[in-house]
Amino acid sequence: MSSENHPDGYLRYQRRPIPDRDPAERTGDHREIYAPEWSEQQLREQATRCMDCGVPTCTAGCPIGNLIPDWNDLVSRGDWHNALDRLHGTNNFPEFTGYACPAPCEDACTLAYNDSPVTIKNMERAIVDRGWDEGWIMPQPPARRTGCHVALVGSGPAGLAAAQQLNRAGHRVSIFERDDAPGGLVRYGLPEFKFAKWRLDRRIEQLEAEGIRFHTGTELGRDMTLEALRREHDAVGLTIGAQHPRDVSIPGRELEGVVFAMPYLTRSNRLQAGRPAPAEPHAAGRSVVVLGGGDTGADCVATALRQGAEQVIQIGINEKPPIHRPATNPWPLPLRIYRQSYAQKEGGEERFSINSLAFLDEDGDGRVDMLEAERVQWIRDQAGRRVDREVLEDGLRLPADLVLIAAGFARPETDDLGAPELAIAGDGTIATDESMATSISDVFAGGDAAMGHSLLVWAIGEGRDLARSIDIHLQGESALPPSLRTRNRPLRADGWPSLQGAG
Ligand SMILES: Cc1cc2nc3c(=O)[nH]c(=O)nc-3n(C[C@H](O)[C@H](O)[C@H](O)COP(=O)(O)OP(=O)(O)OC[C@H]3O[C@@H](n4cnc5c(N)ncnc54)[C@H](O)[C@@H]3O)c2cc1C
Repeated sequence: MSSENHPDGYLRYQRRPIPDRDPAERTGDHREIYAPEWSEQQLREQATRCMDCGVPTCTAGCPIGNLIPDWNDLVSRGDWHNALDRLHGTNNFPEFTGYACPAPCEDACTLAYNDSPVTIKNMERAIVDRGWDEGWIMPQPPARRTGCHVALVGSGPAGLAAAQQLNRAGHRVSIFERDDAPGGLVRYGLPEFKFAKWRLDRRIEQLEAEGIRFHTGTELGRDMTLEALRREHDAVGLTIGAQHPRDVSIPGRELEGVVFAMPYLTRSNRLQAGRPAPAEPHAAGRSVVVLGGGDTGADCVATALRQGAEQVIQIGINEKPPIHRPATNPWPLPLRIYRQSYAQKEGGEERFSINSLAFLDEDGDGRVDMLEAERVQWIRDQAGRRVDREVLEDGLRLPADLVLIAAGFARPETDDLGAPELAIAGDGTIATDESMATSISDVFAGGDAAMGHSLLVWAIGEGRDLARSIDIHLQGESALPPSLRTRNRPLRADGWPSLQGAG
């Protein structure tokens, strides 16, 4: 059933993804939104839709250069074990991406040009699910130790990927994490129903069995100094993420009930994990306004629906994206069109081009109860920045006893690291050179901390390259493979990697 044997697979089979659970049913619990079962026959048929293009634009569209046509071919033959090896060759944690990646690879699939793309993300999920089910994914401790010790600060996907790669290269690795459990945003950002935490725990167990040491509840700048870390280790990697939130500075911001998305999502994730959590913020019985049209906003909407919110309105400041690919966003770039989020499929209301003006406390009890806003038409400069507005509808008043600010993340939290000599780039990220070295010798940085808030797949790629850079620093050379992520490829003006030289 390979694409070689079935070059017409895409003509014989329509795209048929593994379905999600029915929205009406899934909002009644916090279990994953995905249908738990998939059919092997269906997946193998779907894999034959891959044409094994001479220039695999899917691979070029994947920030870590996943060898997508190879796995599709192997899956179509039923050779799941080799497919898993190929998958792990570029990605330490394919379940992170197989379940939660927005899959720019599918936008870049040749079939996406005038048909429906191959179900690449499903394929990734199915391969790694099968690997775990069959017991093929085992700890891989290194055959020999180099005698070098590396400290990583921050245990999100970048830190975890860097740790696994460095450990496999033979270095002793310790991860220091301020939270009470490792995983970064995968642990306390992504809701349980988007990525179940037992999947993360299973990976942490694998890493521990490989010899990686985790020190949770340990914050750089509070519980230890960078100087001490450098003294005790041969190299330090900073993978602290970029969780400093963007605020919405309008009158009433100080009112009770106007909160950032992360404390809200963290509380919910802690409750789902049976860990101690504060009483607030919660959405039960409340009118919730989510400020921010992105993924974090969607996760807030879906969480509020599960908590029994009275109503949930998600507000985007920008215009509603177009329904079809505009000429300014040509294939194979990631699609910038309107796609209804999984959360909006579950309920709630979505509004675009809304400019928030003030949070109001009409009954004077110190708690927000209304959002005042206007609907606008933005006037933008040549770079696309909002410079002015035409008001289309003023005096909008939206009931709001809980406002969740999900306006994105500005930069890493570097203020309290206690390392003033650490150079910071103009955009607030930790400044690094091409080898991911910071301004402090033996200290490197990667992931969102160095590239700004991004996606799981970029963070994994950053972690892999951070490991390679540190390995070269310690040993003069490295057998660890580089990823295909941004730093090895020219960037386009819109921030996505150029397809030049890929494939
Ligand atoms: C709500 C939400 C949903 C998301 N959903 C998706 C999705 O569906 N798909 C997707 O691809 N991406 C998603 N993302 C983005 C993705 O989670 C991030 O890009 C990714 O986790 C970044 O990885 P990282 O390792 O660089 O940083 P993080 O995951 O942020 O991890 C950084 C870690 O460093 C720790 N840390 C920080 N400072 C210190 C210190 N001083 N000392 C010790 N430890 C410290 C933090 O506690 C944290 O554990 C989402 C993000 C959010 C917020």
